[in-house]
Parts: sequence; C-alpha cells; structure tokens
Amino acid sequence: MRSIVWFRGKDLRLADHAPLAEAAASGEVIPLFVLDPFFFAPERARELPHRIQFLLDSLRALEANLAHLGSRLLVVPGRSLEVVPRLAAQWKADQVLAHRWVEPFGRERDRRIAEALDREGIALRLFEGETLLPPGSVRNGQGAMFRVFTPFARAAGIRLDLAPALPAPRALPPVPEGSVFETAPIPTLADLGLSLNPNLQAGGERAARTRLKAFVGGPIVDYGADRDRMDRPGTSRLSADLKFGTLSVRMVWQAAAAAGAGESGRRFLNELLWREFSHHLLWEWPELLEQPFRGDFSSFPWRVDEAGWQAWAAGRTGYPVVDAAARQLLAEGFVHNRARMVAASFLAKHLLLDYRLGEAHYLKWLTDGDWAQNSAGWQWSAGCGCDAQPWFRIFNPVAQGLKFDPDGAYVKRWVPELADCPTAFIHEPWKLPRGRRVSLDYPEPVVDHALARQRFLATAKGHLGRGPA
Ligand SMILES: Cc1cc2nc3c(=O)[nH]c(=O)nc-3n(C[C@H](O)[C@H](O)[C@H](O)COP(=O)(O)OP(=O)(O)OC[C@H]3O[C@@H](n4cnc5c(N)ncnc54)[C@H](O)[C@@H]3O)c2cc1C
Repeated sequence: MRSIVWFRGKDLRLADHAPLAEAAASGEVIPLFVLDPFFFAPERARELPHRIQFLLDSLRALEANLAHLGSRLLVVPGRSLEVVPRLAAQWKADQVLAHRWVEPFGRERDRRIAEALDREGIALRLFEGETLLPPGSVRNGQGAMFRVFTPFARAAGIRLDLAPALPAPRALPPVPEGSVFETAPIPTLADLGLSLNPNLQAGGERAARTRLKAFVGGPIVDYGADRDRMDRPGTSRLSADLKFGTLSVRMVWQAAAAAGAGESGRRFLNELLWREFSHHLLWEWPELLEQPFRGDFSSFPWRVDEAGWQAWAAGRTGYPVVDAAARQLLAEGFVHNRARMVAASFLAKHLLLDYRLGEAHYLKWLTDGDWAQNSAGWQWSAGCGCDAQPWFRIFNPVAQGLKFDPDGAYVKRWVPELADCPTAFIHEPWKLPRGRRVSLDYPEPVVDHALARQRFLATAKGHLGRGPA
C-alpha cells in the first residue's frame, strides 16, 4: 500500500497523527505539504503574517523531524485541487490520508479533491483529530446540535472516554524512488514579502511540548483564579499550537486531566470544550463565517465611523484596556481572552461598528487566528452568537480593568504613554487633573461610556423589537 499523508497546516506534528500512523502501518509513506497560493501567494500571506510565521516555523520543524525518522517532507507549490490528484496519480498512490477540516471552504476543497481522486481510483480518507469528538456527533435528544454550551459540554463529557494519544512513529520508510518531483524549499518569510516578528511564539512540535509541559507542571493549579487576570501569565498560551496542530487537542486534554489540578484543571478542560463547541457550531452552520447566528441581527444598523474604527484598531480609543488589547495584538499576535472580550464588546457596542470588521482584523493579526473560534468569540461578544453574552449586557471597560488588571500592569505594558499614570487613575486617566493628563500624551475617550451604552441599547432595542428581558 502506498499512502500520501497530506499535512494541511492544522496537524503539523508527528505524535498523535492518525493519518501518519495508519500510513506507516500499511506500507509506503509519502509526506506532502502543498504551498497553496490561497495562503502562500505573497498578497495572501500579507493578510495573515503572524500565522504564516508560526506555520513556517512549524513546517521546518516537521521537515526536520520527518528526516530524522528516515522520511522526507515533499513541499510542492500549486493549488491543492490540482496538485493532490495529479501527484497521487503520478506517484501511483493507493490512498491520500489527511485530517478533516470543519470550515466550509475546507470541506468544499475536500469534496472536489475526493471526486478527482476517485476518478483515478484513489481514495481520500479523512481522519478526525482537530476536535476531541467528530464534528456533528454531539446531539441532543431530538438529534439536533445544541444551541447552548452547558448541555453541549455535558453531552460531550459523557462521551469523552478518549483512547490514548498515538505515539510518534519510531521510524518511517524512505519516500519511494521517483516521487521527488516538483518540490520546492519551504519559503522564507522574505520570499513571501514578510518580515520576522521576534515577539511571536516559536512554532514546531518541540516548542509546543515544552509549553504544554510547563503549563501542566505549574500554572494549571492556579488557572481557575488566574485565567481572567490580564496582568498574570495564568493561561496555557497553547492556542496557536492547537490551531496549527503542533499538539493535538487530545494530547492537551489528557495532559491536563492527568495533572490532577482539581477545580482549576476542570476549568481548563471546560475551555477546551468551548473550543470544541465553536468547531461543532461551524460544522453545523457553515454560514457562521459570514452571518450572525441570531437571524434578527442580520440587518443590524451598524454605524460607519472610519475615525472610530481607526482609533480602535490602532489602540487610541482613550480606554486603556481596549487600547492595550489592540496594541498587544499587533505586537505579539496574541491578546488575553478577557481583553479580547472587552475590546470586541467595545467595538460592537460602544462604537456600534459591525463585529465582522473586528473579526477580520483579529483573523489577520492573531497567531492563533482560527475561523471557528474567532467567529464564535466575536459573535459571543457582540451578542449575536450561539449562547452569546446577552446583547443588553455591556462590558464597562473601566470596571473590567479595575477587576482584572487591578494594578494596571497589563495596561502599562502595552500602553507606554500611561507608564507614569498613578495606579488610581490607570483605567480612567481622563479623571486626572487636566495638567497631568496632557503630560501623558494619551487620547481622551472617543465615546462616553454611559452615552455609548444608551445608544447601543436604544439601537438594539429598536432593531430587535424588545428591551432587556
Ligand atoms: C473576540 C474573540 C476572538 C477570539 N479568537 C480566537 C481565535 O481566533 N483563536 C483561538 O484559538 N481562540 C480565540 N478566542 C478564544 C480565546 O480568547 C483564546 O483561545 C485564548 O485567549 C487563548 O489563550 P490560551 O491558549 O492561553 O487559553 P487558555 O485559557 O489556556 O485555554 C486553553 C485553550 O482552550 C481554548 N479556548 C480558551 N478559551 C476559549 C474560548 N473562549 N472560546 C473557544 N476556545 C477557547 C483555546 O484553544 C485555548 O488555547 C477568541 C475569543 C474572543 C472573545
């Protein structure tokens, strides 16, 4: 049996890789990565620079790890739709093995490739692994997808008797003679017109394992208390590893479950179930990448406000936590979850701007930018998603700052203009006496919290036809 193992950017690892394990057990293995212009054309790569940097790191690590086992990663430029069926036929493969994607465009790609391969008598076999349970498999008593997280998590939990993660193969056969055509080196960032951001996490399986080990060996114990604190490194920082599959979610789940971290450990597993929920939602309702889950939000009267948008995106709204989030995003390709929620809510509710503007901006700059989770996070924050924050609950960015960044350390790290601001004023610097305010070189608030809140509530009430429940 000759198998192509098609690595597709969400499974850049050797451990717990079902397609690779299956191929290795059944004969010859040809590891393939396609440099599809959908992501790798320079004009496309510029739209996701941090994700590309992490991916290239991870790809280089995968290439080295495969070589270490005696195999070789064949990197081939071209459109997957053309390259995969053509190479499978040329290389006389019996099957192409890959992990399933939940996104509608990935599903459509796979449908078309399966058809083309089928014409050659070659099977495309998709394996689960991006999620803990197969998307679409967690249903309520009526056989429908859950619309509320808690019963979804309960139903998923009952089924989560996971088989042990698969070990990485100890050795692999060399790629068959004659299969090394059309390959190209892994591009550099410069090849794609990008420059290195030294503040990003390193990609690759080894760096991912180190992060996992560090988290389950320590901070997981305090996760329950620290996860919301923007000023503390209390979360796992594994989101990019889960996004690019340098770790499988099953490995993370099992390592966290084995850590014996009590209630904190359970809180962490619950967050992995939020990840699971967002993927199952997108599987069920592919239109969520374009449309709000709540139909009554579909023609919502969002404002057009270029100045407000620019202030939000650049971190110049005058609200310190909102601005810290914007700047952390651009600098590090990451934003603390609490800060994501506050910033997203501010865009949609305080500025009344279409949440999809922020969703696209996050997808561009986040290293962990993931279609399912980002869309769910934005819709949750805007109040239009499945089991979302109710639309009439509006985060007060000052109160959020006081509670989750009490000394202002998070704000001071990302908004250096406020480095000298007294802690008592750090989340509302406009309350400083006027003379001292000017010396901070920090903008006045772009909107007044109380007025913006009233404006959103009035607009939403008018559109949705009812007031707060
Ligand atoms: C507006 C908005 C946009 C978001 N966009 C993304 C995104 O593009 N990619 C992404 O991975 N996460 C996204 N999230 C969810 C969350 O903010 C990040 O997963 C988390 O901050 C990553 O940090 P961590 O790995 O240290 O998380 P931890 O707290 O250590 O959590 C462990 C893992 O659980 C998952 N997770 C945690 N919180 C959530 C959540 N609320 N929803 C879904 N999964 C969760 C992530 O995979 C995360 O790595 C978004 C949230 C919001 C509010």
